[in-house]
Parts: sequence; C-alpha cells; structure tokens
Amino acid sequence: MTHHTHDLTDRLARAQKAAAEAGMDALLISPGADLRYLTGYEALPLERLTCLVLPAGGDPLMVVPALEKPAAEASPLGGLGLDIVPWNETDDPYALVASRLPGAGAGAGAARTVGLDNHMWAEKVLNFRRVLPGAEQVLAGPVLSDLRMRKTAAEVESLRAAGAAIDAVHRRVPEWLRPGRTEREVGQDIADAILAAGHATVDFVIVGSGPNGASPHHELSDRVIQAGDQVVVDIGGAMPDGYCSDSTRNYSLGAPSAEYAEYFAVLLAAQTAQCEAVRPGITAEELDAVGRDLITAAGYGDKFIHRTGHGIGLETHEEPYIVSGSARPLEPGMAFSIEPGIYLAGKHGARIEDIAVCTADGGERLNLTTRELVVVDL
Ligand code: ZN
Ligand code: ZN
Repeated sequence: MTHHTHDLTDRLARAQKAAAEAGMDALLISPGADLRYLTGYEALPLERLTCLVLPAGGDPLMVVPALEKPAAEASPLGGLGLDIVPWNETDDPYALVASRLPGAGAGAGAARTVGLDNHMWAEKVLNFRRVLPGAEQVLAGPVLSDLRMRKTAAEVESLRAAGAAIDAVHRRVPEWLRPGRTEREVGQDIADAILAAGHATVDFVIVGSGPNGASPHHELSDRVIQAGDQVVVDIGGAMPDGYCSDSTRNYSLGAPSAEYAEYFAVLLAAQTAQCEAVRPGITAEELDAVGRDLITAAGYGDKFIHRTGHGIGLETHEEPYIVSGSARPLEPGMAFSIEPGIYLAGKHGARIEDIAVCTADGGERLNLTTRELVVVDL
C-alpha cells in the first residue's frame, strides 16, 4: 500500500468540509471505493455493518463488527487515530451509529441530513431509515466524486503504473491469438498475464472475435477464432494500491477486408483527435463531439452506440463521464477513458481505448501501445 497518513487525513478533512457545504450533517460510508479512498481500509462488503461515520463537524469514527476490528486496525485506517468502535453480535449497530451522530439525543425531530454511500446496500439504507426516522437520506456520491475525480500527482502516478502494466499484456496478445483457439482460452492466457504484470485482480477480459466484436460488452465465449477474424481485446485490472487499468486494442488474423479497414481508419482518426483535444476547460460533451462528429461525417454515426468514456481511479467506472449532455469542464488531474467504437452488427466491430489524464496545459495518454490495427501473421 502506498497510502500516506497525511493524504488520508487530508481527504477526511476535505470530505467533511464538502459535506458541510452540501448541507449534510454527516456522511455514512460503507465498504467500497469511497471507504478505501478516505481511510485506506479495504473492507469486505458483508451483511454485518461496517461504517465510517464522518460528521460534517467533529471527529470521525469507524463502526465495525468486533470480529473485524483487528483487520481495521491493521489497515491504513489504524494509523489515522480515529475511534474504532466495535459492536457485538447481539448489538444493533445502526442504533450505535445513530447514538454517535451530531445532535443525537435531541429527539427524533432533530433536523438532520445524512449522506449515504452510493453503493450502500438497500438493507443498510433501510436500517438507517429505521433508526433515524427524522433524517433525510441523500446520496454522498456527488460530494465524494468531486474529490475523487481530481487526482493528485501520486494518484496519477498510480494510474500510470496501471497503464504500463496493461500495456505489457497487450504487447503479448498476438502470441495467444491463433485460429482454432476459443475466445475463452485466449481470455485465460490474458487473465494470467494481467496478474503476472503486477495487477492484484483481473477486473474484466473482453475478447470479441468476428461478429462478437460488434457487441461492446461481449466478454468471452466458446467461439473458435478463425483466420480472417478481427478481434476486439478490452482488458483491465486493479493494482495492489487499488488503481485500475483499462485499454482496448484491435487485432486481425491476417489482412482485414476493405470494409473493415475503411472504418478502422475513421475510428483511429477520431480517437487520435479526441486524445489531442484533451485540455483544461474543454467540456465532457465537447470532447465527446470531437470524435463523434468525425465518425458521423464519415457515415458511421449510428454505429457509435455509446459514450466516449468514463473516469477511472479506484473504480473502473467513475466520474467524470465523457458523454453528450455533460457540460462539465475538464480540470487538471481528471483521468478518464477515450474509447470511441464503430460496430457493424452481425459482422465485426472495433474500439480503441486509452486512459488519458488532463494536465495543466493538455493531456497525457497512459496507454502507449500502438493504436493501429495489429495484424497477426498466420
Ligand atoms: Zn475498456
Ligand atoms: Zn473503458
């Protein structure tokens, strides 16, 4: 782990300030990326309540099942000096949290707004409603994503390392793509390599061969890869510090058809133009349009059926989303994918994806393998 106590302390303080500004009296954060971001604690999401209680003013505390206390103390959370409050099997942990919130004891009528972790289980949300009948429940997500989407230099370095690791896997993909092998067999080789390259987990492996390449979220199937196929390979994992990789490249077993080559050239021009357009101040929808307009002008607008990209950090998909309708201006430190695609249903498809970071005066790509179609010699 590369968490520094002062970084985490600073994140907690900034989250408290942001919660106060958003009119929330406290944030309640359950296991997941938000908890890891704020405390370094990679807690398992279980039926027992584990919850960071972060009042807008005052000291944060961590409520954990008694049996999880040693794990919490051993994590970076243990170095933060905040109160770790265990509960026993027959206790009501929700009532325990309620008793520790600002204004507790002022009666059920005390005006309170609590921000709940976006990924909190419904079971837990409703238990908090039970013990806090007078409180308004709102999403903590906007407050936390505001912090999380602006990466520090150390976080960008983590994403850079993740990018280098997935690039190392893409460089080896031609070894494994052979006619007669199934997508699943190739996918297993790729998954092994994702771990060997330094990731702690494999988050997804998409090997879309032939017509499966036209389905953006196709994963793996038992389809046998054939000579002449084009193959979309979209892969990613999380590094030991939690930061994620995500990159898509396109491979061809032998030379592609003229039809494919024509739209691949359009796609490459669009993705390249979008990467070059990254700079502070351009809005998410403007960046989306830079590529979409080129693809539409070439006659493939209705074949580009998804947004341009998603933010990335401790989660593969987070803010900012690069999508039509988002007037959010990009800022230095924002990291996101640029992944336009063109899909000819029933035939084949292509997508090119890099992670990019907005810098002080432009953008930096974190995936550096060739974006050209990689032709595998048979
Ligand atoms: Zn991807
Ligand atoms: Zn992606």
